[in-house]
Amino acid sequence: MPLHATRRFSLRAATRNALCGCVLSLLATTSLAVPVALTDVRIIDGTGTAPVENGVLVIDDGRIIAVGAAGSVTIPANAVRQSLAGKTLTPGFINTHGHAGAVRGLEAGHYSRDNLIRQLDLYARYGVTTVISLGDDEAEGFALRDEQNTASLDRARLYVAGPVLSAQTPEAARALVDRTAGMSPNFIKIRVDDNLGRTAKMSPDVYQAISERADHHNIPLAVHTYYLQDTKDLIRAGADFIAHSVRDVHVDDEFIALMRDRNLCYSPTLTRELSTYIYESEPAFFSDPFFLREADTGVLDTLREPGRQQRLRGNSAAQQYKASLPVAMANVKILADAGVQIAMGTDSGPPARFQGYFEHLEMWMMQDAGLAPMQILHAATGGAAACMGLSDTGTLEPGKWADLLIMSENPLQDIRHTRTLEQVWIAGKQVYPAP
Ligand SMILES: [Zn+2]
Repeated sequence: MPLHATRRFSLRAATRNALCGCVLSLLATTSLAVPVALTDVRIIDGTGTAPVENGVLVIDDGRIIAVGAAGSVTIPANAVRQSLAGKTLTPGFINTHGHAGAVRGLEAGHYSRDNLIRQLDLYARYGVTTVISLGDDEAEGFALRDEQNTASLDRARLYVAGPVLSAQTPEAARALVDRTAGMSPNFIKIRVDDNLGRTAKMSPDVYQAISERADHHNIPLAVHTYYLQDTKDLIRAGADFIAHSVRDVHVDDEFIALMRDRNLCYSPTLTRELSTYIYESEPAFFSDPFFLREADTGVLDTLREPGRQQRLRGNSAAQQYKASLPVAMANVKILADAGVQIAMGTDSGPPARFQGYFEHLEMWMMQDAGLAPMQILHAATGGAAACMGLSDTGTLEPGKWADLLIMSENPLQDIRHTRTLEQVWIAGKQVYPAP
């Protein structure tokens, strides 16, 4: 179900630059490239269909050229064969709502090319091979977006929104959209929220103007919302992507109808809610080896400080968000049951929202909310790609980039098996563990 029936995904700059990237990568690799065949493996292809139990996947020059049951796929004579007996292959995960580039440790203000690459490497090591950064993106992020369409890529793919737009009047809003559109963002991002009654909310005439102007530039509009009524109003105003859960009340039939009529996707960001209060005491995941693999001990020490934990226990906003989480979890189940496309997203990237690990935690929480492993995997792969308008990642199908994960245990039995991630491949080569 493509999200943008009327508003095409804007990848003009990315495509333009991809052409030069492809030529360069062909020059660099054609003479040496040998096809690779992954054999004897369970393949979950990300389309939502049943797995192939004894599958073969063939990669050439960074892309998948054939995939299917053993016997139905012709393996090129010169291919290097790698048996993955007993293991499971899935597409790389897509985080439809992250933020990249600004934070080091627990501190913002470090936006740079080096910090972006460091974070995109981290996402990749956790199998998150594509990240849609929904706001606070600067020139270095746009440059990385424009450089990534090449078989030599070895970090997570990045798509960007530019600044989160905010304006006082419709006139100012339109000018802001025009200026942002000049950067060729993949999304326009706005926040319509009063932060639990603590700040002023963007007014409907302003977001209506932003939506119309984004439409004029053919750029989809992603919206941060909290309240059910605002989210309905935003959908009627033309919002294209719901970037957080509705968290004040349970969603109703009117909301479901609005989402379904417009084929809109919904990004739950359950871990965003979790992150607001979970450090009031030591979280269970602080002893998870899969988390500790990449954790910064200085950051953990800070989050463990008793005074800091005490302040969070007394923080009314944190406690209100804590109460919102069960509402958010109930809503994602209601919407998934109603056939609304869920798009895995975390809002990771801000301090103490751990990139890479939080995407796994998000999927585990989706299972706790009642979603089936296949629904969750689809929401994190092919479903997410369709929601984001990404045509060459998200599924294991011929022509797509070979961004894929190898797990030792089958995640369809329990989504927590994503923690058995053994290898991550991007554009047809292993990036984790570092070869
Ligand atoms: Zn966000």
